[in-house]
Amino acid sequence: MTRRFDGDKLVIASHNAGKIREIGALLAPYGVEVVSAGDLGLTEPDETEDSFAGNARIKAHYAALETGLPALSDDSGIMVDALDGAPGVYTADWAETPAGRDFVMAMTKVWDLLEAKQAPVPRTASFNATLCLAWPDGHDEIFEGRVHGQVVWPMRGQNGFGFDPVFLPDGETETFGEMDPSRKHAMSHRALAFARLVEGCFA
Ligand code: IMP
Repeated sequence: MTRRFDGDKLVIASHNAGKIREIGALLAPYGVEVVSAGDLGLTEPDETEDSFAGNARIKAHYAALETGLPALSDDSGIMVDALDGAPGVYTADWAETPAGRDFVMAMTKVWDLLEAKQAPVPRTASFNATLCLAWPDGHDEIFEGRVHGQVVWPMRGQNGFGFDPVFLPDGETETFGEMDPSRKHAMSHRALAFARLVEGCFA
């Protein structure tokens, strides 16, 4: 039996401004007050698992325990078929530099690897988002969403974040980076996972 969310305040267990913005927009219709882990001064736990669900659980349980409030985390990434699913769970790691995250570098690395392999076009890929809603008593619920598409080059668009400029969803002419945010929010991996979360815990 899925546990329902019946509070009025929820912690977004993320320090990623792009994710916080998107989750805040997706939650807006439900009248829930959202506060981010960063606003509350929480540190970021190490993501030591090798699955999206494992890392989503680490982040949500940490924030729920630290704050005493239900917490929602998102662990996500892009899986490129010709790279055997990489960068996947390690998507953010591919962007790490001593000076912070550099997604132009990470996107270039993905494209260079595809070129080096002469991977056939379309260079199919999917975005995955796994949401974990955790309560301070240790209970949690997990929801996943996936959207299929391809990696394109060069980068296109200034909207969104992360790998959005090189991801063209199936059936679309604009990358996630070019799309109006409302369109991305209606069809993204995060939106699909979110719809399942709403159905399970908020409806
Ligand atoms: P993590 O879930 O914090 O480990 O990081 C996931 C990474 O995947 C993000 O830093 C982004 O680079 C990428 N990612 C996840 N969702 C999206 C998205 O909607 N658009 C673009 N990149 C994304």
